[in-house]
Amino acid sequence: MTTDISTFDLEEAGAVLAAESARFASFGWMRGTSGNLSVVVSRDPLRLAVTASGHDKGELTPSDVVLVDGKGAAVNGGKPSAEAELHARVAALTGAGAVVHVHTVASVAMGRRVPGGILFKDLEMLKGIGQPAHDVEVLLPVIANSQDMEVLGDRLEAARDPRMPAVVVAGHGLYVWGDTPRQARHHTEIVEWLLELELTGD
Ligand SMILES: [Zn+2]
Repeated sequence: MTTDISTFDLEEAGAVLAAESARFASFGWMRGTSGNLSVVVSRDPLRLAVTASGHDKGELTPSDVVLVDGKGAAVNGGKPSAEAELHARVAALTGAGAVVHVHTVASVAMGRRVPGGILFKDLEMLKGIGQPAHDVEVLLPVIANSQDMEVLGDRLEAARDPRMPAVVVAGHGLYVWGDTPRQARHHTEIVEWLLELELTGD
């Protein structure tokens, strides 16, 4: 099957994702082989480079990447994570250029504690997701988990707050997005910080 994505572009995307994955793994946010990252390499048609399934995320190489379409299906072979479909959905829905999915303890713990969604307000760190530090309440939605990515995508679409580039999946982890892999990482760090803060509060 032909595609407009050259091998070089895909390798380049793979190198970025490998570096980002190693960083997240060093934070302890991609334990075992959990979690996956993606970057949009083409918008029309929608194509994403997604980290390959089953690898240790601290040891990825630039070739441990799979090109997927708007449904998360492999375009040129390889085995993407089942979650690639949700990455593609998030990219299509939000216009994000990069998506991060990590299984952090704080996201699972807070999803359990506040299943209706977590409200944040009057925190300097909110500036890191482009929100005012004062007076504005920002909701981090919590959605129920599913192994069906279409169901999960519908829940994310219905629950998401445009002011918050993230959603918690109960009993599972966190999806965060941004314009670039770098911005998606910064958003992930901010959201995780907010969750850890709430977790340590009373
Ligand atoms: Zn997951």
